[in-house]
Amino acid sequence: MYQRTIRKPVSFEGVGLHSGKHAQVTLSPAPADCGIVFRVAGHADPILATPESVVDSYYATTVGKNGARIQTIEHLMAAAAGLGIDNLAVEVDGVEIPAADGSSKPFVALLTAAGRTEQPARRRPIVIPYPIRVGTGARWIQIVPSTTFRISYTLDNDHPAIGTQVLSCVPTERLFVEAFAPARTYGFLKDVGALRRKGLALGGSLDNAVVVGKRGALNGLRYADEFVRHKILDLIGDLAILGRPIVGHVIARNAGHGLNLELAVAIHRALGLERRAVGAAIRQLRELGLAGRTDGLAPVSGLAAI
Ligand SMILES: [Zn+2]
Repeated sequence: MYQRTIRKPVSFEGVGLHSGKHAQVTLSPAPADCGIVFRVAGHADPILATPESVVDSYYATTVGKNGARIQTIEHLMAAAAGLGIDNLAVEVDGVEIPAADGSSKPFVALLTAAGRTEQPARRRPIVIPYPIRVGTGARWIQIVPSTTFRISYTLDNDHPAIGTQVLSCVPTERLFVEAFAPARTYGFLKDVGALRRKGLALGGSLDNAVVVGKRGALNGLRYADEFVRHKILDLIGDLAILGRPIVGHVIARNAGHGLNLELAVAIHRALGLERRAVGAAIRQLRELGLAGRTDGLAPVSGLAAI
């Protein structure tokens, strides 16, 4: 499978969910192996979409570098990942990616309108070599080896409109577009005041979020289990920060941006540690005059392709 970018630049604008501030965004093609790169108007340094660039994960995923910050990147990241777009330049004149309708659907439409093109570089999927787990108690997330990318999610909430929602899926492009991209972010009416005092949800409205009141969603649902679908959408967007497709089974319970990104960092670190272990093992073999005999390192030869 080859890497992909978009064919032509496309722009959109709107108000950010948390900041309430207007922003203009232009998405443009980017070279192979460059990943998703954010540029903020007035700042020279680009912000690479990597785990190291995440500066905040409270209620939304924010990336930043040298004073430049972009808030709430996850629904755009999810759209790119869901459509298999590896490389993309994102120029932002503002502080937050616009909320649009609270889902990834408008971003999917925009990226589809831009067209996609294959690039002369292969994708390098991350093959999960062993279970990795973060979180404790009723909130945790783990990834285990699998032959495909699968997500199994359990969401428990005391609110009767949500309750327990469980979904397990292999998010192919078609399933992503039809079943996950349109699922909107949600919030509870009772929390709006407290969130706004913290400077969050300032741009939130019935047009860009499912608002849950005492008796249920004030503005209707797109799916009976829209809540767990949105949690999966966020997870896809947050894991996209790794910049490469993942081959592994993600199993999550009541996770959020913080835990999603903790898992991304743990995967990143595990792979780095594995690479160092491979390097050390090969150096050791060389010292022992056994260079070239790396086929004996069964788990290692598989990891070398990571
Ligand atoms: Zn979200």
